[in-house]
Amino acid sequence: MSPVKLREVLTRYGIRLRKSLGQNFLISGNVLDRIVAAAEIAPGDTIVEIGPGVGVLTRRLALAGARVIALELDTRLLPLLDESLSDLSGTVEIVPGDALEVDYRALLAARGLAGTFKVVANLPYYITSPFIARLLEERYPFEQAVVMVQKEVAERLAAGPGTKAYGALSVLVQYYTDPKIVLRVSRRNFFPPPEVDSTVVRLRRLEEPRVRVKSIPVFFAVVRGAFGQRRKMLSSALEGSGLGLDKRSWIRVCELVGIDPQRRGETLTIGEFGLLADAYTEYRGETFSGEVKNGCF
Ligand code: SAM
Repeated sequence: MSPVKLREVLTRYGIRLRKSLGQNFLISGNVLDRIVAAAEIAPGDTIVEIGPGVGVLTRRLALAGARVIALELDTRLLPLLDESLSDLSGTVEIVPGDALEVDYRALLAARGLAGTFKVVANLPYYITSPFIARLLEERYPFEQAVVMVQKEVAERLAAGPGTKAYGALSVLVQYYTDPKIVLRVSRRNFFPPPEVDSTVVRLRRLEEPRVRVKSIPVFFAVVRGAFGQRRKMLSSALEGSGLGLDKRSWIRVCELVGIDPQRRGETLTIGEFGLLADAYTEYRGETFSGEVKNGCF
């Protein structure tokens, strides 16, 4: 949809776009086609789309053969979507709701869809990290997610140890998925243009998490602790992680698995975080019973 047409449609429905809802709509047919191609739609696929906006991506996903359930928070867009997608009512359903609140298992089960699903979205920037973290932490059975995110966030998702972009979100994403950069997208492809460029990434879920650990909550508590004070030495950062050991004990735990306690957490591979978490569990002789808290990535 051209900016002129988009403006005309929004005016007709009396809608002023809200920056606070990340309402930057795609106006490039080429980018939309590339997102649909990256979704690798097969017959029978169920796609959960976050934030259909005026429905341009939704339409293309449905025409490519998917059943689409599109979650939209802004109820002002619902009458517009009803009209613009009326010819696809058999394959597209618009569901009013918040992507950070919806229970995706229940959403699918209520429609008799019990298997896996795919996520496709031009995500509103403000929900990117909590949305991705939620998908992973709640272990929703998604096969892959093709998401447009802010360029800097895409770099964090795919970053490796020792880089500035590597953080707790990188470890969370790479623990459960294989992230791949699909396409870089200039801000010129949106209306209104956002202040940053974007990147489409595909997160393909791994059959098994990348490393086997004794306790996933301990693993992520160690990761969060290590990155919580990323400029400190591992043993000092972990002392403040809430896992209940003092610095000397952490030095001992690091040494048990041959990890130098003077290293910074940001240099550890996912495998090393796994070793450290398991050494902690053994050292304490009990399993940490804390929760993996949402929203801290
Ligand atoms: N898919 C459209 C496109 O590509 O042009 C619109 C994408 S726009 C970046 C983000 C969309 O997400 C908007 O329609 C916005 O209203 C919606 N949105 C914002 N916050 C949301 C939330 N928490 N849950 C669901 N949708 C949300």
